[in-house]
Amino acid sequence: MFRQHVTTQLSAFAHGELSHDDSQRIAAHLRDCERCRQAYEEIILGVRLAESLALRTAPAALWEKIESALPPPTSAASSATSSVASLSAGATSHHTAPLEPEHGWLPFALNHQLLAGAAAMLVITLGLGAWWFNGPSTRAAWEVARLSGAPTIDADRINATGQLGIGEWLETDEASRAKIKVADIGQVEIDPGTRVRLVETKASEHRLELARGRMHATIWAPPRLFFVDTPSAVAADLGCAYTLEVDERGRSLLHVTSGWVALETPVRESFVPAGGACLTEPGTGPGTPFFVDASETFRRALSRLDFEHGGAAESLDIILAESRTRDTLTLWHLLSRTDDAARRRVYERLAQLDAPPAGVTRDGALRLDQTMLDAWKDQLELSWWRE
Ligand SMILES: [Zn+2]
Repeated sequence: MFRQHVTTQLSAFAHGELSHDDSQRIAAHLRDCERCRQAYEEIILGVRLAESLALRTAPAALWEKIESALPPPTSAASSATSSVASLSAGATSHHTAPLEPEHGWLPFALNHQLLAGAAAMLVITLGLGAWWFNGPSTRAAWEVARLSGAPTIDADRINATGQLGIGEWLETDEASRAKIKVADIGQVEIDPGTRVRLVETKASEHRLELARGRMHATIWAPPRLFFVDTPSAVAADLGCAYTLEVDERGRSLLHVTSGWVALETPVRESFVPAGGACLTEPGTGPGTPFFVDASETFRRALSRLDFEHGGAAESLDIILAESRTRDTLTLWHLLSRTDDAARRRVYERLAQLDAPPAGVTRDGALRLDQTMLDAWKDQLELSWWRE
């Protein structure tokens, strides 16, 4: 399949510098392309690193030192400056043009003073990055609009609208509904009987906690900017719309209507595409994702396998027998959640429904080689998006 990768535009995308149409196009590409998604995650990591640096004003004397450290303008100096500029562009640094030996300039020809100057410039650039990310884009509160009834923020009733600050709880009773504007990246509708708290809002991360009840999120931001903490897993938005609900026992149900969501705990991750759903339970974390149009027999067997001990072999029999091509979503996740004989059976059924691509071997898949599993997933995704 032909793909026009978007790596060169990812930095601008992460910084919100692209037009709405370009952003949408790139978000769509990221949903489908593992390679660009990884590059994007590196960029976001760089943004977080910049955010974690303390912001200091550079002493005036530093500029003089930098100036005196720089040699008179020659071609060598301009190469050095441009490579520092590329480096300071963060995770896009691997696109830096290789040094050209024919110009007779090699990195180890740099003297210490020039290196010190370059390091100082890098620190300043990262500092400016931190200012940029913490500066104009930061918002301390989200707008809340009352849709019906009497929603409260930290126990105070709101009128037509209110402001949800960091740490504050928005609560709806059985007759209330509300809508939250998620910074400038999306919106969340809150159903009756729901409790949510704004945990964090900054350019690289917006986070809600859903303690109980149900919310519908529509997010048009780049992936991995919007998170929802639930008692049993974290829902990470990968550019999507979804419904998430939490019951009184802390179990949750995620149903994705467009794009992708990842449900995560420190030890487990479930990728849920549009049309898919996933249950989570405290102590167990996210179960295995499935398509909501899978047979009821299939879904019941999967729930037993994920959350009820005993009858595992019998449940797996049913899941394998009932699997359609699209249910490779479930089988692919099950590969790493089963052992020995069960994993071999999952592999056989998966390979029968959608044979592994070149480079993915049976042995590799069975020993859970991550590169091979990812390559297979890239192929399987084509059937997950259909219908
Ligand atoms: Zn790509």
